[in-house]
Amino acid sequence: MRLRFAPSPTGYLHVGGARTALFNWLLARRSGGAFLLRIEDTDRDRSRPEHVEAILSGLRWLGIDWDEEPVFQADGLERHRADALLLLERGRAYRDFTPQEEFERARDAAVAAGTGAVTRLSRELASRVQPADAEMRAAAGEPFAVRFRVPGGSTSWRDMVHGDMRFDNGEIEDFVILRGDGTPTYNHAVVSDDAQMGISHVIRGDDHISNTPKQILLYEALGKKVPAFGHLPMILGPDGKRLSKRHGAQAVNSYEEEGVLPEAMVNFLALLGWSPGTDEELLSRDELVARFTMERVLKKGSVFDSAKLYWMNGKYMARLDTRELAARLQHTLASRNASAEEPHELSDDAFQRMTAALAPRSRSLSEMATLAAPYVGPVTSYDAKAARRAWYRDPGGASEILARVRTEIATVGWEAETVEQSLRGLAGDLGVGAGKVFQPLRLALTGLPASPGIFDVLLILGRERSLRRIGRAIDTIASHAGQR
Ligand code: GLU
Repeated sequence: MRLRFAPSPTGYLHVGGARTALFNWLLARRSGGAFLLRIEDTDRDRSRPEHVEAILSGLRWLGIDWDEEPVFQADGLERHRADALLLLERGRAYRDFTPQEEFERARDAAVAAGTGAVTRLSRELASRVQPADAEMRAAAGEPFAVRFRVPGGSTSWRDMVHGDMRFDNGEIEDFVILRGDGTPTYNHAVVSDDAQMGISHVIRGDDHISNTPKQILLYEALGKKVPAFGHLPMILGPDGKRLSKRHGAQAVNSYEEEGVLPEAMVNFLALLGWSPGTDEELLSRDELVARFTMERVLKKGSVFDSAKLYWMNGKYMARLDTRELAARLQHTLASRNASAEEPHELSDDAFQRMTAALAPRSRSLSEMATLAAPYVGPVTSYDAKAARRAWYRDPGGASEILARVRTEIATVGWEAETVEQSLRGLAGDLGVGAGKVFQPLRLALTGLPASPGIFDVLLILGRERSLRRIGRAIDTIASHAGQR
């Protein structure tokens, strides 16, 4: 099998493109075939090198690797022209000199006269020019479009997803293959390139179904082997409409920035239009390669459910070992604070302890990075509601408790169990529930009403930082009381 992904570099890699790339890649890797890239950069106004880079980096992030050098469609221009001229020579295409306005006038007249199909109208208009005249005008440099002479009958194929497909050729207009400026149209360039690249299976979105009969006719006219075709179902937004910008993030790199793990994204994309045939949802890349088949591609569109993506991502984060997850979190933090030169104060051990403590509370690396803020950086403010409840309701009591905690932890053995025993013992001595000690302390240490277990928090921060933070909290409570 030789498969390809053929993005137009007119934007980032979006979810739909990534899904198409992934399905082609899975099939290539499963079959031991080749997965090729072709950058369809013939639209010179909209194609940009930075978009090529964005698409390639999106694929790299997903771990979708390609074989052979990427092909740039614009490099095939001479061949596209030669193929069009070949069809002209063989009488399978014709020159169309009719100006656009004249064609439109004739079309409107035909529609008004109710003569029905206008799919052969350009052929009719072109036939008014004698072949010898056409040769002369072309030789004199007059611009013309080359149109494909669609034959009679019908065109059919067995789609790998949708089964038997058939189009009546009478419904297909004599489409342009080479424009007046000598550039190929999409259908023509794709066929010329796919044939040149030896593509055996074309798998792409079902928005291309109506192009497929035109492409099959071109293969046949060029005397090339027709590849197999499979059209993937639409990706829908939660409202059942085709996924679009209005449904939110479509760019794969925005999920990367959000701290979604690539393995979770791949798993999620694989289930957009494919099912393993069981209700399993978590499938590793290797399992996907081993199990992916076109038979299990669904015909109906499937809904892009970002809640499911984040759920999945949480599962993948939980599966990673702490060391690996810590490395990725470091990376996310570093890219967030590209400007902040200061490295955080956490030791390797403390960083890993923090990672392990935050993992069950995060569904993405970015969420985790946000939760990590009070450990890798300073506490910049105290949650107002939590402060009212834990400190200011009884400022004297809260300060007293924090002062006692400070004394305890100044000397206690610095292990989770010892710290726990000592703080629980303190609550007992004060005759209060543990929460009465932990809540004011949590706020002092993190500025937040919720955090991982308080003993973890102490150990992550370390003795010195914890003592400083408690001191600052006591001062804050005092100055708050002074203001009232
Ligand atoms: N450049 C086309 C697209 O992005 C490729 C279609 C195809 O795979 O033939 O939709």
